[in-house]
Amino acid sequence: MSPLLATASHTAHPSAAWLILATLGAVGYLAHCVIWPYRACRKCQGAGRFRSPSGRAWRYCNRCSGKGAQLRPGRRVWTHLKNTNRHRK
Ligand SMILES: [Zn+2]
Repeated sequence: MSPLLATASHTAHPSAAWLILATLGAVGYLAHCVIWPYRACRKCQGAGRFRSPSGRAWRYCNRCSGKGAQLRPGRRVWTHLKNTNRHRK
């Protein structure tokens, strides 16, 4: 290891840097979930239904009930946060 790298790793506290990164990541993820609350359903890949092997019949996906969209977990957290703030005021 070069002396320059050794001093650089000592000046910044690693746990503080991780905390800032984690907070920024969480805030960024929440903002992303506010703008794009849905993701494609994992079971049907966003199609909302499954085709039979013959291709002529199909059924709705029972995981997303045919919508093909699933609410992202971050959006649920956001809704929860919004509700708790409203009750406090
Ligand atoms: Zn689905």
